[in-house]
Amino acid sequence: MQGYIDFHTHLPWRVREPRRAAGLLLRAMDEAGVARAVVIAVEPSLRVFRSSVTPERLRRAAADSIDYLVYLRIRSLREVVFEPDRAISEHERLLLEHTRTSEEVLEAAEASGGRLYPVASYNPDLGPAGTLERVRGRPYLGVKLYPTLHDCRPSERRLRPLLDYMESEGLVLIVHTGCDPGLWELPDLCWGARPSALDPIARSHPGLTVVVAHLGSYSALRPGIYFQEAVDLISRRDNVYADTSAVDPFLVELAVDRVGYDRLLFGSDYPYVTGLTMRDAVEAILHSNLEEKAKEAILAGNAERLLRGLGRL
Ligand SMILES: [Zn+2]
Repeated sequence: MQGYIDFHTHLPWRVREPRRAAGLLLRAMDEAGVARAVVIAVEPSLRVFRSSVTPERLRRAAADSIDYLVYLRIRSLREVVFEPDRAISEHERLLLEHTRTSEEVLEAAEASGGRLYPVASYNPDLGPAGTLERVRGRPYLGVKLYPTLHDCRPSERRLRPLLDYMESEGLVLIVHTGCDPGLWELPDLCWGARPSALDPIARSHPGLTVVVAHLGSYSALRPGIYFQEAVDLISRRDNVYADTSAVDPFLVELAVDRVGYDRLLFGSDYPYVTGLTMRDAVEAILHSNLEEKAKEAILAGNAERLLRGLGRL
């Protein structure tokens, strides 16, 4: 094997300068035996956040889930229940802190000696047309959509021209699925990030490669929340892949049982999984109960085949 491929990473956010942040990411890759990585931009919109996450909606969403909020006693969610205004301003701060623009990711990739594949972020403030103009003619591998942070559904009609362009140019669509940390743990706020919402576009754009990030499973409260939908989608549509980032190895094994391993891509979500390094994420696959062939395919072979098919390897 020529080194692993990590299909889901981000730039460290504490070091702001993109080239220096890329240096940290490359060092983590070296320690993990990862030769190449997909590095993904994160562009939320405060405008969309303020208009979609109102104190009233938060109160209602929390009331609907009060049973497990109380049961699981997650501190940040206590705030959502008792102090929604404070929770909202705190999340605004976090959104700004974690923003990494598509241009920053491109700059990081340019400094990586070909080891990083930049993925742009959909930008709700620019809309589909503005996002398209931004990626046109640039060396992005694809675009990522965050139905949670962007408060949108991937099958919305207005996204069509962007998806048509991506399909014709061989760009990959990566979609966050499952919940997201903080108030996006509330089921009412992560509803749009269900893998089943991707079925219409995977069907209408058979030439578009769709990657279901997190295998539908991202959730601190209910790990594996939409796992079954992700597996159903992979088995129904040949152009759908999923990455293993922030997914319990048990669920990766279960996915292999259900749909085989040909369209599962290793992802670490570096640096976002608290307390875990990229190397830990690699080792979780290496130490799993999967057969050797499956481990190799997930850690490298599948991504190599996909990238080669897109003319990127
Ligand atoms: Zn991520």
